[in-house]
Amino acid sequence: MFHSAVVKLTLLYVLIVMIISISFSVVLYNISSQEIGRGLGRQTRALQGMPPNGNSFIDDLEKIRNEQIDESSQNLKNNLVYFNLIILVSSAIASYFLAKITLRPIEESMEAQNRFTADASHELRTPLTAMKTEIEVNLRDKNLDVKEARELLTSNLEEINKLEYLSSALLKLAKFDKENKKDFEKINLAEPVESAIEKVNKIADQKSITISAKLKKAEILGDQQSLTELFIILLDNAIKYSPRGSKVAVEIKKLDRHTEVIFTDHGVGIKASDMPHIFQRFYRADVSRSKEKIDGYGLGLSIAKRIAELHDENIFVSSQAGKGSKFTVRF
Ligand code: ADP
Repeated sequence: MFHSAVVKLTLLYVLIVMIISISFSVVLYNISSQEIGRGLGRQTRALQGMPPNGNSFIDDLEKIRNEQIDESSQNLKNNLVYFNLIILVSSAIASYFLAKITLRPIEESMEAQNRFTADASHELRTPLTAMKTEIEVNLRDKNLDVKEARELLTSNLEEINKLEYLSSALLKLAKFDKENKKDFEKINLAEPVESAIEKVNKIADQKSITISAKLKKAEILGDQQSLTELFIILLDNAIKYSPRGSKVAVEIKKLDRHTEVIFTDHGVGIKASDMPHIFQRFYRADVSRSKEKIDGYGLGLSIAKRIAELHDENIFVSSQAGKGSKFTVRF
């Protein structure tokens, strides 16, 4: 599909160049032919004014003049045809590369879209397949009792929760992808941070993790709801990837030219080799997939990054595997 688009665009470019080149050539040919005719006509008229040397002289002169006009016109025609052929070949080569360069970003975004659709379908299919298999196996069991049915329903509910989480993450990505800055208002940064802490307090309690907060009033232009979303993602990760009983710290720091919100945890940390990929959609470091199997789909940080981009913020990460991570959101 991409190749045929390149070919079509190349043909279009060549067509435009050739229309211009041929039009110029036709105009040039007409003007030059007229000039040649006029120039030779002037010569003949000048010679006609000389003393007569017999009638045949003028006739010969007229014949030679016509031959010269024909020859010059033919030469001009040939040169213009060669010139247009050269333009055709060189514009075809240049247009092909130009078309490739023009369509490259579209090809890349199509590839990313396809990869995303494939990853999303795969992630959606996994819990569905698990549920289907469990239900089929249990339906085949003629002696299925209430306890087993209850276990089946509990397990199905777990898979449904995963599906719910995944679909809501996908919806958020779609929502923030098309959102723009127009709804921004002046807000105190401490407010979305506090709301985020409130939201994750329950899961922190479940792991006996304490969240310490050092918050200052800092006014920025932004959207309170999406910033709360961003801070929830960072806090949720800090809790998810930290051992039981550890500490997570949140701080708002005011610098000369920036304000920073810093999230520090003492969890599993991120390996240097994973660092360049953690903001990619569906990317999860091995540590999240294996061992205790920490829940998630690798979408949180991509959503966080998108919200940060909307606010012209940067997210910086520093981390040491086994020691912990520090995520800094700089406004
Ligand atoms: P998820 O947490 O659902 O896997 P994210 O996009 O939020 O997806 O994070 C991507 C990956 O980055 C995670 O799988 C994890 O390996 C790593 N990561 C993110 N935050 C932390 C953190 N605070 N500590 C350690 N690893 C983290």
